[in-house]
Formats: sequence, C-alpha cells, structure tokens
Amino acid sequence: EFGNWPGIIAAWGRERPDAPALDDGQRQINWGALSDQVDRIAAQLLADGLQRGQAVAILGTTSVAYALAYLGAIRAGGCAAPLTTSATPRQLANMLADSGAIHLFIDREKRAELTASGVDLGSAHHIMLDAADGDAPAMDSWMAAAGSTPDIAPPEPGDPFNIIYSSGTTGTPKGIVHSHAMRWRQSVAGFQSIYSEDARAILSTPLYSNTTLAVFLPTMVHGGLARLMGKFDVGQWLKAAEAMRATHTMLVPVQYQRLLSDPAFDAHDLSSMQIKFCTSAPFSAELKAEALRRFPGGLVEIYGMTEGGVVCMLQAHNFPDKLHTVGQPVKGHELKVIDENGNELPPGSKGEMVGRSPTMMSGYKNQPDKTREMEWRDADGNLWFKMGDIGIMDEDGFVQIVGRAKDMIISGGFNIYPKDLEEVLMQQPGVADAAVVGMPSERWGETPVGFVVAAPGYELDLGILLSEVNAELGKTQRLSALYPIDELPRSHIGKILKTDLRAMLAEGV
Ligand code: ATP
Ligand code: MG
Repeated sequence: EFGNWPGIIAAWGRERPDAPALDDGQRQINWGALSDQVDRIAAQLLADGLQRGQAVAILGTTSVAYALAYLGAIRAGGCAAPLTTSATPRQLANMLADSGAIHLFIDREKRAELTASGVDLGSAHHIMLDAADGDAPAMDSWMAAAGSTPDIAPPEPGDPFNIIYSSGTTGTPKGIVHSHAMRWRQSVAGFQSIYSEDARAILSTPLYSNTTLAVFLPTMVHGGLARLMGKFDVGQWLKAAEAMRATHTMLVPVQYQRLLSDPAFDAHDLSSMQIKFCTSAPFSAELKAEALRRFPGGLVEIYGMTEGGVVCMLQAHNFPDKLHTVGQPVKGHELKVIDENGNELPPGSKGEMVGRSPTMMSGYKNQPDKTREMEWRDADGNLWFKMGDIGIMDEDGFVQIVGRAKDMIISGGFNIYPKDLEEVLMQQPGVADAAVVGMPSERWGETPVGFVVAAPGYELDLGILLSEVNAELGKTQRLSALYPIDELPRSHIGKILKTDLRAMLAEGV
C-alpha cells in the first residue's frame, strides 16, 4: 500500500477547496489554491526540463512557499531534496551536487549567505521562495499559468519521493533516499487512525527533517491544516496553538522542556490537543511524566532514524510504568541487542542494537562504504542494520536507549555512557542543561568531562559541583573536569552537537 500523492492533493482540492491547508503566520492557503499552485509549479518544472525521479533542491526557512515547492516537486514526478539549512556553504554545495538537482528553490536570506561565502553552487536554476532576487525569479511569477495541469503518469511504489541528508550529528551528512512506498510506510501507514480531516497540526521544526514529516505528511493525506513555524519561540507557539485549536503536534524534547518551564504555559488553553509526538533525542522519564500531567492530549514517542530502520513507539499515556523507554518495535520491525562479538544478549543487557524492518532504506546515495559499515549479518546470514545506538530491551520488549555508540567513552577499559553522567548532573540544583563527552587522555585513553549550563539566577561553583557529582557516580565513571557554557550547541531538531563540544575541547575550550 502506498499513496498516490498527486491524486490525494487533487482530491482535497476538489472536495474541500475552501478548507485551510497551510499557514505560516503570514500566508494562508486553502486546499483549492494549494492544489492549483502545486499543479502550476509541477507544470513549470517539467517545462524547465525536470526528468522523472530527478531531485528538486529546496533551501530556506520553512514556509507555505517551501511546502508548495516540496509538493510541486513530487507532483511533477520528481524527488524533493530539502537541504539542511544549518549546513555550511561547502556542505550545501556538496549536497546539491550529490542530489543531481537542476532546480534550487531558495530564499533571499540563504542566497545572500551562499553568495557571500564564495562557494560555487554549480549551475542549478534558482527560483526564489520569497521575492525575486537579481536574475532569479520569484516562484509566484515563475510558475505556469493558472489552470495548468502537468500531464504525467502517477508514481510507482519504487519511485524516489525525497532525499534527506542525515542530521550529521556524528559526522558528514549522508543522503538518504525514501521511495514513495517507503515514505508511506514510515510516515503515514501506521498513523492513519489518529488523524481526520479536522486535523490541525502545529509544526515548529524544519520541513527538511524526517521529524517534521512524521506529522506533516499524514496531516496532508487527511486534508487537514498544517501551521508551519519558521523558528521555535515558546510565546508564539503557545499563542498559535491556542488560537488555531491545534489537535496534533511534533515537538522535540528540548521544546517540551522550554514550553513546560515557561511560567505562562498553564494559563494557555490547549485542551484541543489530541496527540503530541516526540522524537529525535533522549526524552527523560521525568519530563514525559510532567508532559502527561500538564500538557493536554496523548503523548507518543517515536524512536527511529532518517534511514528508516526500526521504529519503536511508546504511547506514554497508556504505559506510565515505561516512561524510561521508547516503547516496543512496531509491527513488522525487529530489534535485538548484541555484544562486541555479535552474540545476541538476553533481556536486561546493555549492547549495540541491530534491527531489520520494511522501512529500511536500500543504501546511502553515492556512498556504498557508509552503507556497508551499517550492515550486520546474523549466524544464518540474514541482513540486519546497526542502529548506531546502545540500548537495553526489557522482558516485555520495551527498549531503553542508553546512548549513541559513537558517544560511548572507553576509559581505562571501562565503558562509560554519557547519559548516565548527564542524568546525575541534571539533578543537581542550579544545573539547567548538561552534556558529557570523552576527552583524549594519555593515562586512560579517554576520560569523561562535562559541560554545564547554569539555571537562571544561579552561579555554579564548578569545583563543589564536580565533587558532589563524582560522589554519586561509580568509581569508573567519574568526571575529570566540568566546564561552564552559556548554551549547549544543538541542531535545529534539538540534538546536542557533541562533535562541536569535542572540537571545543581540542581547541582548549
Ligand atoms: P547522523 O546519522 O548523520 O550522525 P543522526 O543519527 O542524529 O545523524 P537522525 O536520523 O535524525 O540523524 O537521528 C536518528 C538518531 O536520533 C537515532 O539513532 C538516535 O540516536 C536518536 N533518536 C531518535 N529518536 C530518539 C528517541 N526517541 N530517544 C532517544 N534518541 C532518539
Ligand atoms: Mg544516524
């Protein structure tokens, strides 16, 4: 089963032309106009030489125009290639070349940034999402005349739907292609029952990330409304969610934390909320419990990765005793925990997770070595993929994420999981945020050090804090140093960028 996107969009355009489809706070568009514009963008892409399956690059702040370009690319039989806005100009030029796109939808801010960097972006044809810029036309005047309908066969299940460059949390971004069928299985199929045509989703993570698509795509399939926010702001989010009577949302853990710690949170009426999702980064059991207590609607946590891979899901409102986990693998997905020698470990043991599932990508674009690094075979020769995470599966099949394999610190022959240390740090009075990374050490190989953010109004004595924390930690886990930091470096989807912290250490903080 998979969705015929052109058919879905056209059907909502006919059936509910006046119902709102997209809103970015400045521009609103209903389904009738959306369907018309998506057709016109597609017709123009085809007139400009787009080939079936070819990538269409999009780079800029999430907006109505951004979403139209995305859907237009798919309507034209192309593959949407939304580029990571936080990437460096050099990385962006590489992504663009890697994707093979000849069209780049871009906004003025990003175009100015790239021009200033002097990096050669190749010869892609620029179309401006916001306003014309020099020789680059505005999308609104560039698209084909009203009423244009692209003449193209509907997509096949194996046709590429999008290419997403992985977060790059642990290194250089890798291109991940999702076919139409896989995209549908990953984002839509299992979630159908929780949406209706009255769905009103509020999204405040960027549209280039898988995280956002997990709610954006099913909302579109159901003919609902997606409110897109270019950047996350607690006050604006609360105001917008209340005003639109939002029914669904996707928030990453740091956004839950910021919303719930805002003094104005409880004064807002969010009673319309039906389901809130969360994914991308560790979400503590305490914070989940608080969200269940104070934030209306059900809470669903997803554990997954852009590659597709195994998806675990926790319906937190139904499993109050399992809040320390990310739930169980969903139907059709299998996960096991293995030791360094590739032996399967019994429930309760900590080890690297490998998985297999129908939503796994077939490989990274143009990077067969990176693909092979992920592969793992069991004794019968079956192919599994390394998830890159360390976890524990309990007797009931619920999975607890211990941390990323690449973040594990090996000190004096002992494995140290940064998350254990971070949890102890976070429990100290006056600590608002904390991260632990390994620092090279002649004596131990590596030794753990922490970065701490002081809570507003607190001045931390790091010497005292260090001895107090170490008193609570096991002998082999002790931190060698603590460093103050104003704010932890995070990606647009709330992941702590540990590579940046390690680079700071290498430069002597
Ligand atoms: P890269 O692979 O480029 O280094 P990345 O792994 O961060 O980047 P994503 O595919 O966006 O890119 O993220 C998947 C990872 O995010 C998982 O492997 C896991 O470490 C983390 N993650 C996802 N969901 C959860 C969750 N619910 N709880 C804890 N961690 C999660
Ligand atoms: Mg990854």
